Amino acid sequence: MKKSSALLCSAVVFLLLAPEARAITGDKPEFKKLADDVYAYVGKVNDANAMVVVTTQGVVVVDTGNNQPETRNILKHIQAVTRQPVRYVVITQNHGDHIGGTPLFSPPATVILHERVAKDWSAWKSYQVNTWRKRFPERAEALKDFHPMDATVTFSDRMTLRLGGKDIELLYVGDPYNPGDIAVWLPQSGVLHGGFAAYKERHPDIRPDYSHGTTWGMLKQLEALIALKPKAVIPSHGPVMNLGDLQVMIDYLLLARQRVRGMMDKGMTVEAVRKQFHMNEYKGWDREAHFPVIAATIFRELRGEGPEIFPVTEKTVRGKIAKVEEEGRYLTIVGDGGKQLSLRISNATDIEGVPDRSQLKVGMKFSALYEEQKERNETLQMKVEP
Ligand SMILES: [Zn+2]
Repeated sequence: MKKSSALLCSAVVFLLLAPEARAITGDKPEFKKLADDVYAYVGKVNDANAMVVVTTQGVVVVDTGNNQPETRNILKHIQAVTRQPVRYVVITQNHGDHIGGTPLFSPPATVILHERVAKDWSAWKSYQVNTWRKRFPERAEALKDFHPMDATVTFSDRMTLRLGGKDIELLYVGDPYNPGDIAVWLPQSGVLHGGFAAYKERHPDIRPDYSHGTTWGMLKQLEALIALKPKAVIPSHGPVMNLGDLQVMIDYLLLARQRVRGMMDKGMTVEAVRKQFHMNEYKGWDREAHFPVIAATIFRELRGEGPEIFPVTEKTVRGKIAKVEEEGRYLTIVGDGGKQLSLRISNATDIEGVPDRSQLKVGMKFSALYEEQKERNETLQMKVEP
């Protein structure tokens, strides 16, 4: 009796201490059939999603999973429903949690990219190419001399892939700041992968450097997606959604812009707007931590300013891992001099010493080359010793 009340008590304490951000997908990934031969891979706790289209001429995978274990899991699910090989990988947004699993499939699979993404990949530095080759040890031989651009096809506005009698339409809704985010539409089944613009009950990850585009660009994309009248929509993150959820997102963005506009009309500075901005009408949505950056992004947009550009300096650090968050995505390091440092580990980080970032543990000895940035420092190369 005593023990259970202690447990209950600690559960209550845990709930009180739990961060405001609420996960809205389960703690296990799901492979859901949405239509004949069309599946959604729904990432755990709002990890990145993927879409799988099976045809008699091979499989098309749209986005590739949050990290290596997730990508391997996607492949396992594909192999459980078909013996067809993965022939195409389509990338809806150029971020590690969407592109990072590509080398498990390609080569031989062909990768389809928007031309803006291809431009970025073509300019990758050698550490990025190296980590691509090393990302899946089981693929070391196939990727030995491979460059990520070697097996790609690119497009600018629209492309239809026809495979095994199925149409797969790739849609780019252009604006000056869309970094190459696309949607993938299956007209025969009415299923849509909404790409970056599709969110359900999650505050969007929109940033003042426009690395995820702008709210104006998102509105333009959402209008185009709604016009398709999809029966089911796979968002980049979060549970499978529907047409009505796309409209909710439009209302959300219009309200967010109106709120920032109202604060600007009162003469508030960007710092004050960052602090006061909220979207409390959407209580319970994931990632309230995005409020200040959403506000700062809209502030720039409404002033007609381009992306915020940070001067980037490369630095090195040696020390110990003091804190690990989100399966190694964020680390706090205590340097040998005793100074604390926040680092972001992306799928482009060249990691030596452990197979992937999810294996990083508190107490490991650590050295890294990183780019100093305003929010989180970006790690380029790192080496850990247990
Ligand atoms: Zn993502």
